[in-house]
Amino acid sequence: MKKLASAGKQKQVELSPIHDFAAKLRQPGILPRLQEYVRWQAAWRKARGEGQSLDALLESAPDQAPLSINLDVTTACNYRCDHCVDFDILNKNIRYEHEKLKDSLSQLAARGLKSVIIIGGGEPTLYPGFEDVVRHLKALGVNIGVVTNGSRLDKILEVADVLEKDDWVRLSLDSGSNETFVRMHKPRQKKVTLDWICEQVRPIKEKNPNFTLGFSYIIVWKDCEANDAKIVENIAEIELAARRAKDAGFDYISFKPFLTRAERNNAEIVELARDDDAVDPIMAEIRRRVDEAKKLADERFRVIESTNLKVLENGTYRNYTDQPRNCHMQFFRQVLSPLGLYNCPVYRHVPQAQIGEKHAYADSDSLRETQKSTLRLIEEFDAREECKEVTCLYNHVNWFIEELIAHPEKLDALEASPDRGDYFL
Ligand code: SF4
Repeated sequence: MKKLASAGKQKQVELSPIHDFAAKLRQPGILPRLQEYVRWQAAWRKARGEGQSLDALLESAPDQAPLSINLDVTTACNYRCDHCVDFDILNKNIRYEHEKLKDSLSQLAARGLKSVIIIGGGEPTLYPGFEDVVRHLKALGVNIGVVTNGSRLDKILEVADVLEKDDWVRLSLDSGSNETFVRMHKPRQKKVTLDWICEQVRPIKEKNPNFTLGFSYIIVWKDCEANDAKIVENIAEIELAARRAKDAGFDYISFKPFLTRAERNNAEIVELARDDDAVDPIMAEIRRRVDEAKKLADERFRVIESTNLKVLENGTYRNYTDQPRNCHMQFFRQVLSPLGLYNCPVYRHVPQAQIGEKHAYADSDSLRETQKSTLRLIEEFDAREECKEVTCLYNHVNWFIEELIAHPEKLDALEASPDRGDYFL
């Protein structure tokens, strides 16, 4: 009962609108889908109490696709970043069958997929079918975000014409100088420097100024480790990077803290430093430099602090580690990778988080089976245990849905939130 009592807990105050997932799921076009899912879960829990099996209830599984997916198009990468979170899965030479990937996206869009973040596992612009996938998704009416290392901005220029107001491209650059950029990312080609990447931003904006182009900066401090090695510190270049981003024509720079990984299941954890005495001076320096960078913000250029940075600073990050047993976000947001279909971006390629194989959505029969597998995993994957170290930004929405499942009578009174047209989860 303790968990249900806390289910009504207040929304975490640090959540910015882009992380207010409960509001996103209550947008007018999405609310009926949330209601259908909650009603199914409530029916299942009642049936379970009466001794029925999950398999019997799965026949009535909602015929829905995730609202949003992270799409890893390739595991290939042309950098060797010291802080890479996907180091173990890079360059595996495991691929999609391209037409089946497109079929999967069509199947998903027909059942309500509305946003795709084309992202990691590797560098998405290296995928030979990158342009085709982007154009296919836009033809399907899906909003897209692309996270890229910046080494192939010619590929972004090629697709810039189809990108729209709600689409975005974010470059992971993490530095203010060429030297730090190269030390952190170790690009395979000598010509790839921060200067070279930044020079290519204006031609893209000139071709199409409508979508958002961002500079992402993971803040690394002394003693940060990844892949069993110390990684390059970059705190001192925070202001320099913000100045560079603004001058180059980016729409924003966003600062987020480096995340460590749990040894047990590879989950990302917000944690400032192992040595507690070191925490205050590091955080103070980050704060001072980010505040300085913020002075560059104006009506054209934004300086964004990630939610993780805010909760790290104010110490509330532990509030995001108390998950309900069932993670409902697995139903609304998944990760499709050449290595398979996974329940959460935190658990790319972790066996206990796998829903299906890479073509699990490629035709209507396999899609129906995958819908059932998703509901099975929601039941079997114990988020309370698996994610107890994760500062999960979906914590609030999971408890919000949990509360509705416990009290489905509240569903009818649930009001839609304003339509923001933002379906990224
Ligand atoms: S509880 Fe959070 S971290 Fe865990 S699977 Fe769900 S969304 Fe991912």
